[in-house]
Amino acid sequence: MPTRRTFLGTTLAAAASATQWTAAASTNENPMQPIILSTWRHGLPANEAAWPVLADGGSALDAVEAGARQSESDPDNATVGLGGRPDRDGNVTLDACIMGPDGNCGSVACLTEIENPISVARLVMEQTPHVMLVGQGALEFAIERGFPRRDLLTPNSRAEWEKWQAEHPDAVGQRQINVENHDTIGLVALDAAGDLAGACTTSGLAWKLPGRVGDSPIIGAGMYADNEVGAAAATGVGEAVIRAVGSFLVVELMRQGHGPTDACRLACERVVAKNPDWRELQVGFIALSKSGEVGGYALQPGFQYAVRSAAGEELVDAASIAN
Ligand code: ASP
Repeated sequence: MPTRRTFLGTTLAAAASATQWTAAASTNENPMQPIILSTWRHGLPANEAAWPVLADGGSALDAVEAGARQSESDPDNATVGLGGRPDRDGNVTLDACIMGPDGNCGSVACLTEIENPISVARLVMEQTPHVMLVGQGALEFAIERGFPRRDLLTPNSRAEWEKWQAEHPDAVGQRQINVENHDTIGLVALDAAGDLAGACTTSGLAWKLPGRVGDSPIIGAGMYADNEVGAAAATGVGEAVIRAVGSFLVVELMRQGHGPTDACRLACERVVAKNPDWRELQVGFIALSKSGEVGGYALQPGFQYAVRSAAGEELVDAASIAN
């Protein structure tokens, strides 16, 4: 199924003449063309927040963090950060991870009361010998580092949770394909120096069991970046992504020579193989190669990803296994 692309910028025609973009080779005289892609429509404002970093010659790592923070701080985004949908008991618990071109990475899971978990994950990476902090330990670490505490349950997310409770007194973790219950933002970027980085941040599956952690903070599942090859990120039902170690798989498929779209498609096929109920759930991958090619693929129709480069911004309807 061909990929339909929605052009949002004014100067994209030349850049988007093929289904994948390829940036110029990286040399001192001819720097890489920076590019960033992010999952879902809310990737558009996230990319816009990240783009000045890349356009000014900044690092892919700074760019993905800036983009992730935009989504996290948007109270109207009900699947990431502030205003994210809570767990079964009404607590907003956040998961995030980040990975840089040197192979270092950091992550937090089940973090409460902190608006920007991606920046906490970055400090775990940069200021501790660890990769992952969870729960109370992650919160204490964030507070020690000066992150302010705040109530992440907005009036909107509280109202939705109360409605869900009233309608589903015995239910746990309802699934709705593409809609409402999942919409993690994953971001992957290539900077002018030719370096890759990735980030992923989410409030996780709405109405989840307390303590549940999905794929998003798991390095290799929700996101993976290998500066020799490429970077990938996942969205959708985290349990299905974890079973396939999805983002690592996408990067390894690129290492074997597959282009980003093909690598994402093959990873989706692996998710199908590992999840007999795959028709009932959505999983989507995005990928970016070391040479600047981008791609994405999903289990079900409806998955979109946002691309930003010097050529402009674009929202792409990813192809899918199911029609
Ligand atoms: N992958 C996320 C999780 O399972 C959900 C999402 O994509 O929104 O926690």
